[in-house]
Amino acid sequence: MSELNTSDLAAGERLFERPWHFLKSVPALEFLPPADRVEVAVAGRSNVGKSSLFNALVRQNGLARTSNTPGRTQELNYFAAENVPLYLVDMPGYGFAKAPKEKVSAWTELVADYLKGRATLARVFLLIDSRHGLKPIDAQIMEMLDIAAVSYQAVLTKADKIKPHTLTDIIEATAQALKVHPAAFPNVVATSSEKGAGIPELRAAIATILAERG
Ligand code: GDP
Repeated sequence: MSELNTSDLAAGERLFERPWHFLKSVPALEFLPPADRVEVAVAGRSNVGKSSLFNALVRQNGLARTSNTPGRTQELNYFAAENVPLYLVDMPGYGFAKAPKEKVSAWTELVADYLKGRATLARVFLLIDSRHGLKPIDAQIMEMLDIAAVSYQAVLTKADKIKPHTLTDIIEATAQALKVHPAAFPNVVATSSEKGAGIPELRAAIATILAERG
């Protein structure tokens, strides 16, 4: 995120000073809202800290529900703010232990269709637990992103849970692993929803995408 400057950071703060609200849940592509705004989506395996990161971004605890909440979880959840030409999309988590086959194929179909068919989708933030790094479970979505040629960026979560030098190593290892993925962004962002680390940078990245694509 080295390309970010203070005006990007300020734009990020302005974007998330306003109230964001839940717009709708999308269980299949026919329910998508009109493609009239730029979209930024957040993806990751269940329990990676996606809801916490979402809530930290928008400064509203409870806006995004955790993956453990029944319902809503196998759907694309859309969030919007007044007078902002941007949708934030919380993608369904993956990698549930003991997930039934039908659930896995429903996830695969929805996500593949969405990634391939949504021209306004500007970037996916792929969340990775700092303690674990990229896992085989993340390979499927990375492949889908590469095939759909949707730009994506790795975001490490729960950075407060590991020592700074270990975090540096995992950032480096993640960046290295992403090099062979054509659609992946080279910069890896480390965040902590708990402590707020990396959240201003993420807001700034989203504001920059909006400025460039909006
Ligand atoms: P989701 O399933 O990906 O939506 O994950 P959640 O946001 O529900 O988080 C899963 C668990 O990780 C919860 O117990 C959170 O409190 C915890 N968690 C999430 N983010 C952080 C973080 O930045 N730091 C720490 N220490 N714990 C976190």
